[in-house]
Amino acid sequence: MAKTKKYVYFFGAGRADGRADMKELLGGKGANLAEMVHLKIPVPAGFTITTEVCTYYYQNGRKYPKELKAAVAKALAGVEKAMGKRFGDAAQPLLVSCRSGARASMPGMMETVLNIGLTTATIPGMIRLTGNPRFVWDAYRRLMMMYSDVVMEKAAGIEPAEGKGIRTQLEHLMDEMKRASGAKSDTDLSAKQLEILCGQFREKVREVIGKPFPEDAQEQLWGAIGAVFQSWNGRRAISYRRIEGIPDDWGTATSVQAMVFGNMGSDSATGVAFTRNPATGENKFFGEWLANAQGEDVVAGIRTPNPLNIATKGEQTQHLKSLEEVMPPVYKQLVAIRNKLERHYRDMQDIEFTIERGKLWMLQTRTGKRTGTAAIRMAVEMMRDRLITKETAAARVTPAQLDELLHRILDPKAEQKAQALAKGLPAGPGGATGRVVFTAADAVAWTERGQAVILCRKETNPEDVEGMRAAGGILTALGGMTSHAALVARGWGKCCIVGAGALAIDAHAKTVTAPTGPYGSGLNKDRMAGSKTLREGDWISLNGSRGIVYAGQLPTVDPDPENPLLVEFLGACDKVRRLGVRANADNPRDAATARRFGAEGIGLVRTEHMFYGEGADQPLFLLRKMILSKTPEERRAACDELYPYVKSDIRGTLEAMDGLPVTIRLLDPPLHEFVPQGEDKQRELAESLGITLQDVRRRAEALHESNPMMGHRGVRLGVTYPEVSEMQIRAILEATAELRAAGKRAIPEIMIPVTCTVNELKDQQVIIEKVKKEVLSKFGLKKLDFLVGTMIEIPRAALTAGRMAEAAEFFSFGTNDLTQMGFGFSRDDIGAFMPDYLNKKILAADPFQTLDQEGVGELIRMGIERGRATRPGLKVGICGEHGGDPASIAFCHKAAMNYVSCSPFRVPIARLAAAQAAAKDAGARTAKKGTPRKRGG
Ligand code: PEP
Ligand code: MG
Repeated sequence: MAKTKKYVYFFGAGRADGRADMKELLGGKGANLAEMVHLKIPVPAGFTITTEVCTYYYQNGRKYPKELKAAVAKALAGVEKAMGKRFGDAAQPLLVSCRSGARASMPGMMETVLNIGLTTATIPGMIRLTGNPRFVWDAYRRLMMMYSDVVMEKAAGIEPAEGKGIRTQLEHLMDEMKRASGAKSDTDLSAKQLEILCGQFREKVREVIGKPFPEDAQEQLWGAIGAVFQSWNGRRAISYRRIEGIPDDWGTATSVQAMVFGNMGSDSATGVAFTRNPATGENKFFGEWLANAQGEDVVAGIRTPNPLNIATKGEQTQHLKSLEEVMPPVYKQLVAIRNKLERHYRDMQDIEFTIERGKLWMLQTRTGKRTGTAAIRMAVEMMRDRLITKETAAARVTPAQLDELLHRILDPKAEQKAQALAKGLPAGPGGATGRVVFTAADAVAWTERGQAVILCRKETNPEDVEGMRAAGGILTALGGMTSHAALVARGWGKCCIVGAGALAIDAHAKTVTAPTGPYGSGLNKDRMAGSKTLREGDWISLNGSRGIVYAGQLPTVDPDPENPLLVEFLGACDKVRRLGVRANADNPRDAATARRFGAEGIGLVRTEHMFYGEGADQPLFLLRKMILSKTPEERRAACDELYPYVKSDIRGTLEAMDGLPVTIRLLDPPLHEFVPQGEDKQRELAESLGITLQDVRRRAEALHESNPMMGHRGVRLGVTYPEVSEMQIRAILEATAELRAAGKRAIPEIMIPVTCTVNELKDQQVIIEKVKKEVLSKFGLKKLDFLVGTMIEIPRAALTAGRMAEAAEFFSFGTNDLTQMGFGFSRDDIGAFMPDYLNKKILAADPFQTLDQEGVGELIRMGIERGRATRPGLKVGICGEHGGDPASIAFCHKAAMNYVSCSPFRVPIARLAAAQAAAKDAGARTAKKGTPRKRGG
C-alpha cells in the first residue's frame, strides 16, 4: 500500500519533523522553526501544515485532504504535551497563533491570527493562570479584532464599503471607550473597561457580519487555518507575486504555534533583531525591543522601540534603555543564540523573539534582507572569517545590489514616498534628477549655464548625441533596450529610461504629459500620480535601474568608487569565474574606464562612434564627404583625408588597453544615418566636393533605403566600397605597428560585421592580406600577428557557422541584430507592442533585454558547436547588449563561450554574474574533483 502523504510536521520539546532545507513544503517560517528546534534553541511548540495542503485546497474546491483533521489533532496533542496546557481547556488553556509562510518571503502580504483558543470558557482559566485579568481581556479584544477582520470578513469574501470594515468599526468602539474614560492610550484602559469593550465587540460583530463570534476553540482554529490559505489568493499577495515573479502554484504553509506573551508585565518583552547591521553590514548585533509588549507593537510603530544593546545606540536612542542593560542574563542568552544561528546558517539572520516572564523564546529566524553595501561587506567579512567560500560569497550578492554601489542613485527613502509618473525600460542605470528640456541644443546650453537637465525626446538619433552627453539623464517615449538612446547611454553609464510609452512628449509645445493610468506593466497603481503635465524647466527624476519616472526633484546619493570591500569582493569573483569579461568601448576614455572596472579587453569598438559627439566635427565632415562621393577616385581621396583621424583614434584605444585584446569592428551602420539634414552642413559639403546643393540632396536621396537595418550596412559596405575597408584595415595595422615599434603591446582583432556567408569574409580577407603585406614592408617587419573574425548576427551566419569558421578565427555574437533578425522584431520600434506581449505573457521577457535562450540561444549553441567543429580552438564571445545581463551571462557560461563583452559600467556586474554561473556549476559538481580551467578571452 502506498504510504499516505504527510501533511502536518510537528516541532517543539526537542523534536522536529522538518528541517531548514524543506522550505518548499514547510515554507521559510516552518522550515526554520524546525531547524531551530534541532539546534536546541527554545521555540514554543507547534506544527506546520504543508504547502501541499494549500495546493490541494485550491485544486479541490477549497476542501482539505481527508487525513488532515486527524493529523492536526495529533500534532495539537503534541503541542499540549510539550507546553503542559490544553487547547480549549477551562483550567489550563493553551492559546495558539496561526501564521502563513511561503517558501519565498512575502512580508505582510498574507494573514496572521493570534490568541486563538481564548473563549468565554477559557478566559477565567487564563485569568487564574496569569493572575492578570487586564492582560487576558486585552488579549481577547485583540483576538476579536483580528479574527473578525481576517477570518469572518476578508476570508469570507465580504468587501465592505470604505471605512465600514469590521476592524474599523471595532476601532471606533475602542476610541469611544478611551474618550469616555479619559484614557490616552490603549494601555490606560482597565481590565473592567476592556471586559465591557469585549461585550460591545461581540454585539458589533453579530450586527455587522450577521454571525456570532465563535466561542469554540476548535472552530476558531479551523477558521484561522482556512483564512491563512485563503490569503494566498488575496489581492495583496497576488500582486506581490506578480511583481516578484513568484509562481501562483507554490502555495503557502500554515504554522500553528503555542502563544507566548511579551506583554505579561515588566519582566516580559518582545523584539526583532538582525545578527548584523542590515543597512551597513557591520558585524554588530542590531535590533529593537519593547518591554511589556506584543510583537505587532514593535512592527506597527505605535511605540518607539528601544535599541537592543549599548553598542548600537544612536544619537536619537542614547537615552533609551537597551535590553543589555535591563535584562543582562536574557540578553546574554540572546547573543549566544545569535552566534549559534550565524554559525549554522552562515548568513545574516533576521530574528523575532519574545520574553515571557523572564524566559526567552525564539519565534522566527530567516535570512535577512539587506542593502547592496551591507551585502558586499557581509560577503567579504564572512569569507575572510572562513565562514563561507568565495563561491558562496559571489552567490550572496545580487547584481542589483552590486549595481547600487556603482552609480549615483535616487535616495531610496525619498523614492518610497514619491509618486511615479510612468514606467519605461531601465536602459541606463542609476538615478538622475534635473530640469526637463526637449532638444539636444537646450540640453547643452542649459548645462553650460550650470543647470542639471534631463533630456526628454520622443526618440533619439545620432544627432542628439551632444545633448545626451550633456544631460544628467535621458528619457524617451519610444524605443527598446537596444535603441540608439539606450545603447549610447549605457555605454556612458548614464541614467536613461526609454520606451516610456504612456508619456506624451511634445518637443514643439515643450511638454511631457502623463495621462491618468494605466501606465504599462508592473507598477503599483497606488504609487502612480494622476494626469500631469511638466513643462520646460520643471523638475523630473529618473530611476534608470528600474525604469521609473517621477515628477519633481528627488534627492540622490553618491557611490564610493574606490571602496576596498568592493575591490576585494570582485577579486574573489574573478577567482571563481571561467568566462572572460571584456567591454564595449569606442574611444580611449571609455577604454580607460573599462580597464578601471576590471575589463580584460575590448570586445567591440564601434568605429562609427568616433563620428559622434565632442571633437567629431572634422572626421564627420570627411566621412560625409566620403559617403557622398560618386566615383571610387573621389571616395579614395576622401578616405585618404579621413585616414589620420581613424588611425589616431584606433591607436589611442589600443594604447589604453596595452597588453589586452581589442576587437575593432569595421564600419557597420547604413550610410544614410550620417547624411546631413541641415542646409548649412549640406552647403558646406557641396562646396568641398565642388558640386551643387541640389547634387548633394540628390546623392543623399539615392542612399535612402526602405529597410536600412537590412540594407546597405556592415560588410556589404566593404564589398561595394573596398577602399573604405582598406582605409580602416590600414589604420588598424599601422597603429599596431607604430605602437609595437614604441615598445607597446597592441593586440588588435579585426571584426567583420553583418556577415551571412563565408564568401563575404573571403572577399574582405583579400584586402586584409594586401594591406598586411604593404604594412610589413613599410615598417620593415617580418610578421604582424592579429586575429580576423566575424560577428554572428544574422541567423544564416549561425546556421552556416561551420563554413564561417573556415575563414574566421573568432566569432562574436551580435545578439542585438541576431534577436532583431531572429524574431523579425525591429530593435528600434518594439516599444509599440512589447508591453502587450509581456502583459499577455506571449513572451516572458523582452528579448532585447534578456537573451531568448529558446530561439536565439539555439542559434548561438548551434553556431558555437558548428564553428568549433571546423576550428576546435575557435574563440567565441558576445558583444550584444545581453553581454551585461546576468541571466544571459549565465547562458553564455553554459554555452562555453570564452568571454562576454558589455558596457564599461556593467563590467563589475558581468564579473559577478559570470562568477555566480560558475559557482552554480561548482555546487552541482561538488562530488567531482578539480576546478575546470578558465576559458578567458
Ligand atoms: C549587435 O548587433 O549585437 C551588435 C553588437 O552590433 P550593433 O548593436 O552595433 O548593431
Ligand atoms: Mg549589430
